[in-house]
Amino acid sequence: MEISGRTGLLGLIGSPVGHSGSPAMYNYSFELLDMDYRYLAFDIKLDQVSKAIDAFKTFNMKGGNVTMPCKSAVCEYMDELSPAARIIGACNTIVNENGKLIGHITDGQGYVRNLKENGVDIKGKKITVMGAGGAATAIQVQCALDGAREISIFNKKDDFYGRAEKTIQDIKREVPKCIVNLYDLDDTEKLYKEISTSDILTNATIVGMKPYENETNIVDTSVFRKDLIVSDVVYNPVKTKMILDAEAKGCKVIGGKGMLLYQGVEAFKLFTGEEMPVEEVKSRYFAE
Ligand code: NAD
Repeated sequence: MEISGRTGLLGLIGSPVGHSGSPAMYNYSFELLDMDYRYLAFDIKLDQVSKAIDAFKTFNMKGGNVTMPCKSAVCEYMDELSPAARIIGACNTIVNENGKLIGHITDGQGYVRNLKENGVDIKGKKITVMGAGGAATAIQVQCALDGAREISIFNKKDDFYGRAEKTIQDIKREVPKCIVNLYDLDDTEKLYKEISTSDILTNATIVGMKPYENETNIVDTSVFRKDLIVSDVVYNPVKTKMILDAEAKGCKVIGGKGMLLYQGVEAFKLFTGEEMPVEEVKSRYFAE
């Protein structure tokens, strides 16, 4: 489709953005659906966020995505925030609704949607999540909002531990019926006990990610009982050591690539109101 005087603009802001797969994925989707939009990446540093958001409004951009280091900083310039973006204090998706900018965060939605696409409904489930960084917090908040019964969070006593303490308070306030607890990841006895009563175990730490691909937080693989669903947010490598160990024990395993795809699918739906042509995008950009 040719660019015309009416072609709508969307874009990614953050820094760096040169490596991002988002422009290819969204432009391919626009092409397949015959939609008159184009999506570009703009290298925006923290001190340029306010001007970038002004540009969204000035150019009447349909929407866009936000990546590091701008995910928190954009929040104060939004006219409205989704419940998850408000609780987490970060946005990865901006939607322009008739001049009003609405900030969303679709990482957690992408995680929950990926579970669903793999036949797992988070509603009523107990989930153990290792991690308290950006990905982990988004997952924990979205799982609570989407009806998880109980969430056990494990993290090392590092700088992220305090963030988990805040997440616990936020979830208790916003979703009081969800039981949520925080433990030290180094307390392996407690970790294995919580896993034994969980439906889903998720790694949302950097352990398992290149160059830590030979590492796993789960050393005792006897915790991988057959009816435990084991998922990882790490997508490089596609199958982490934890996923391979769990798979070998007969668990249903769900890797991180699906979360990456579906956070984009959810953002696309928010921008356009349409479902992304998932199968085509998957086979072109997410082939495993
Ligand atoms: P982050 O820096 O915000 O958080 C890092 C987390 O790892 C913290 O919980 C920290 O305590 C933990 N950690 C660090 N070193 C550790 C160690 N030695 N042992 C145990 N825990 C340790 O990172 P993030 O943005 O949340 O990303 C985490 C992972 O998730 C990365 O691999 C990233 O690529 C991946 N990710 C995937 C998706 C997706 O869509 N699949 C989205 C976002 C992030």
